[in-house]
Amino acid sequence: MSAPISIDDARARVLEAVRPMPREEIASADSLGRVLAEPVTSTVDVPPFDASAMDGYAVGAGTKGELTLAGESRAGHPAGGSLAPGTAVRISTGAVVPDGAVAVVAQERAEEDGGVVSVPAVEAGANIRRRGEDVKGGETVLAIGAELGPAALGMLAAVGAARVACARRPRMALLATGDELTRPGEPLGAGRIWSSNAVALAAQAERAGALVAHVATVPDALDATCAALAEAAASADVVCVSGGVSVGPHDHVQPAFTEAGFEERFWGVALRPGKPTWFGTGSRGGAPVLGFGLPGNPVSAMVTFQLFARPALRALQGADPHAPRTTAALEEAIERNPSRTQAVRCHVEWGSDGPRVRPTGPQGSHVLTSMLDAGALAFVPPGEGALAAGARVEIELLDL
Ligand code: AMP
Ligand code: MG
Repeated sequence: MSAPISIDDARARVLEAVRPMPREEIASADSLGRVLAEPVTSTVDVPPFDASAMDGYAVGAGTKGELTLAGESRAGHPAGGSLAPGTAVRISTGAVVPDGAVAVVAQERAEEDGGVVSVPAVEAGANIRRRGEDVKGGETVLAIGAELGPAALGMLAAVGAARVACARRPRMALLATGDELTRPGEPLGAGRIWSSNAVALAAQAERAGALVAHVATVPDALDATCAALAEAAASADVVCVSGGVSVGPHDHVQPAFTEAGFEERFWGVALRPGKPTWFGTGSRGGAPVLGFGLPGNPVSAMVTFQLFARPALRALQGADPHAPRTTAALEEAIERNPSRTQAVRCHVEWGSDGPRVRPTGPQGSHVLTSMLDAGALAFVPPGEGALAAGARVEIELLDL
């Protein structure tokens, strides 16, 4: 392991190695969570016609008093023809305002009786949604790099975009190393544990937009680790290995990455938990493959995934790699580590004076319960003594 580098430096080295994924065209209906590779420009005005904002009566300029009812414009069924002087057309919300009409009188303000409707004077333009008021034809509604959430999917449909160009989802291979690992669902033998990393990291990867294409458990042996890595790197854009990344006699991940032709970009981050994190780059037929060796302790694995692998997966798709950060006041004192920045899992309370954070409980790297309900990582810089209650720290918001 080399001299540990800072979290920011490590993240920068990861992002430097990222080459954006190729784009693909997909059905907009399948695009939830995807990232746009091309801006979406509307070919039409939205709304596409002057439409009524109310149920009521479409009337001409300067009209008031009694008007003859001359038909109806319903949503999806325009009245046809134009409004003659002295007449009104019954109209519903979202229906086309007929030519010659300048306003809509709300139903509650009119009185209809036997083919005649009495209306008060109304201002021109009242209760009319103008054509193009929301979106003008030619306008860009979604920028490149936009993450497609429910609102964006609605927008795509509103402008009639049935297909969109998105970054291909990075294919992720996950290898959990450890002779002690057992899959949930299988009984535990002596000295064994259920492998939580494979599950938690796969879920984090999916949240970051990756397609988890391959998951395997690998025993603590060099040849098995090399074979598993070679298989994983044969089809993945990103290979993430948990455990076996330190310098113990049964840690084979770093030599196996080297054996598989990966070039080391860093090994060791001044971070707690997560010090032995390894990152390197390989290639498959000219296409880059990113390799992460994450420490096996469940919290270390999740924290380092959040700090290094997640940004990579997002950058690969052209999305903002950085999780939202802000500063928060500590609700209790936290003992500093002499040489490493601590990523403390915290509850976040959003007070009127800004966010306040408090550790979720014991912070051991094996204490997976400390990740539950953790709204943020608080970064406690290295130093002597404690950081006092009330001190402000940088936090990164989590959605775990
Ligand atoms: P390692 O990084 O391989 O030295 O593992 C550190 C600790 O993390 C050990 O206590 C392992 O049993 C544990 N660990 C490693 N892999 C996993 C896993 N997939 N799920 C849960 N715990 C793990
Ligand atoms: Mg291990």
